[in-house]
Amino acid sequence: MAAGGGGRAERGGAGVGGGPVAVVTGGASGIGRAVVGDLAAHGYRVVVLDRGVPEEPAGDRVRWVAGDVRDPEANEAVVKAALSRFGRLDLFVGNAGVHDGGVGVRDLDGAALSELAGRVLDINVVGYVLGARAAAGPLTESGGAMVFTLSDASFLVRGNGAGIAYAAAKHAALGVVRHLAADLAPSVRVNAVAPGGVVTGLRTADGRPVFADSGEIGVRVREFNPLGVLLSAERIAPLYRFLASPAAAGMTGEVLRPDGGLGVR
Ligand code: NAD
Repeated sequence: MAAGGGGRAERGGAGVGGGPVAVVTGGASGIGRAVVGDLAAHGYRVVVLDRGVPEEPAGDRVRWVAGDVRDPEANEAVVKAALSRFGRLDLFVGNAGVHDGGVGVRDLDGAALSELAGRVLDINVVGYVLGARAAAGPLTESGGAMVFTLSDASFLVRGNGAGIAYAAAKHAALGVVRHLAADLAPSVRVNAVAPGGVVTGLRTADGRPVFADSGEIGVRVREFNPLGVLLSAERIAPLYRFLASPAAAGMTGEVLRPDGGLGVR
């Protein structure tokens, strides 16, 4: 990352041809980065909002805006960048998120729990709300779509490593998706992808890596789901493009769950 979380800076390719235009939050790493790569490989031009701008941008179809999803102006800036550089907006992907490290209600004193829960909810929920607010107008004009990253923690509360703040945030994000779907119909379709465990750079709200030992996590994820799978971010990414496509024209307020069958566990 070249730029820090403070200011906002733009970088990346200008002047590429046509095609639909997407904004992706948290597109510098993990699932978001795979979604950016998949969209760019299938004709989209993409503008990413993340805390920093990578040293190696992902090709000339991708532009970068450095900023924090908790900042309303950063969300407005990334949508503005899409409109000014590419002239339209067809898809908003809300994806930036942090974990809580599996902290339970008895694990921290009140002040520390308040700080952790506040940060996780601000980034994972308020960040989605602010992104949706910034994108709603242009997407209404284009008849576009929103897709948000939820989690198995939007449905399950035990065994997936989520603590109370992450479970609360991902359940709340499901509410955000369903509210937006009702509120923005019929102009904008709003759906979600809720992965199970995916080995990524996911960090806790205070910056610790969640998957420090990726081998051990991989075994745990496979043992936990009925299909015995560990999906990569690249395997999940095309689902976002599907939800934005005409093939999903009749879907809103829905959640695709690439989690190895946790719903029937
Ligand atoms: P990741 O850390 O690899 O990617 C998250 C990205 O979000 C990073 O680039 C990070 O810089 C960015 N980000 C975090 N906070 C931000 C902020 N305040 N402002 C701007 N950008 C910010 O992690 P990931 O696993 O790819 O996570 C992406 C999404 O997937 C998250 O919403 C996460 O909760 C969700 N998810 C992850 C898993 C998993 O097992 N990895 C499973 C289900 C859902």
